[in-house]
Amino acid sequence: MPLTPAQQQRFISWANRIFLPPPPCAGCGSTNWGLGGDLVTVTLLDPGTGKRTVVTMGQVICDDCHHVMLVPARPLGLLRP
Ligand SMILES: [Zn+2]
Repeated sequence: MPLTPAQQQRFISWANRIFLPPPPCAGCGSTNWGLGGDLVTVTLLDPGTGKRTVVTMGQVICDDCHHVMLVPARPLGLLRP
């Protein structure tokens, strides 16, 4: 699901507030990150009940090794109203 221009702007604003200075990548140590242009979903599984919850995430991607860091989309305002 591609981000709209408004969502992209909110994602960039978040990164400029929270993601500076950029942390080192867990994969390669680089601090060169980009913001993914699509949202993805992950399914959380409660091992006790088997209940599944789908969560939408934004992607922060290492420019060097392409390691992906997922951040929750809802608190960042990346979900459409
Ligand atoms: Zn990396």
